[in-house]
Amino acid sequence: MLEAHVADGVHRVEDAYVNWYIVEDEGRLTIVDAGHPRSWASLQAAPREIGRSLGDVEAVVLTHGHFDHVGFADRARRDLRAPVWAPEADRGVVAHPWRFEHERSRIPYLLRHPGFDRALLAMARAGALFVGGVERITPYEPGRRLDVPGRPTAIGAPGHTRGHCALHLPDRGLLIAGDAVVTHDVYTDSHAPRIVAGAATADSARAAMSAPANAAARPRGTAAGCRPASGRSAPASRPPPAAAAGSRGGCACSRAARWRTAGSRP
Ligand SMILES: [Zn+2]
Repeated sequence: MLEAHVADGVHRVEDAYVNWYIVEDEGRLTIVDAGHPRSWASLQAAPREIGRSLGDVEAVVLTHGHFDHVGFADRARRDLRAPVWAPEADRGVVAHPWRFEHERSRIPYLLRHPGFDRALLAMARAGALFVGGVERITPYEPGRRLDVPGRPTAIGAPGHTRGHCALHLPDRGLLIAGDAVVTHDVYTDSHAPRIVAGAATADSARAAMSAPANAAARPRGTAAGCRPASGRSAPASRPPPAAAAGSRGGCACSRAARWRTAGSRP
């Protein structure tokens, strides 16, 4: 499912509980995160829906290396000759997307939260269990402005993974947060902005501490890496009203520490 123009020239695609984004820049496209392997079919259709073609894709940028963000990245590298940019500190996870640090076992979440079963099944159907990693990446570091269409700036947001970065598009007033903050935590089936449960987070305390760094980006909106909180199309999670009121002085991510206490680690 594609939602066009969640911000100026930025489009969201949702596949099996995961968001990935298309950033336009004068007809050239950057793909931010790569969903699941079967999101490849969505990638064939989405550029047409916004009046572009697959040949306009010039780069893939990953916010981090988890299995549900690496999806079709290596296929895009091979078939579209699109370089795959990824945080240097996540190089190992990008190469092996299921080998990631997490604070807690996933099994109790399966037992306690039926919604996690549904999400896992949907992801499995989208090919998530057999996702391939990417060995040949173009590494980037936090603070760098990436030489790809849209020219996003990498904002370090470690904690969810050691190298996780958000991507700031200052001219669009948007921060693509990846999984630094999510609007639906599939592990707890919780629908509210928060950091991801310990089942898929390397260091929750650090993830919460990363929030001020994201606030420095001062975006008007934040686009999360998970699907929206409801079935309706409201993906790029706009800052909550309190944050929106001071949206030029803060962002949704700045509230991650508070969200964590809202139930990300039951
Ligand atoms: Zn993740």
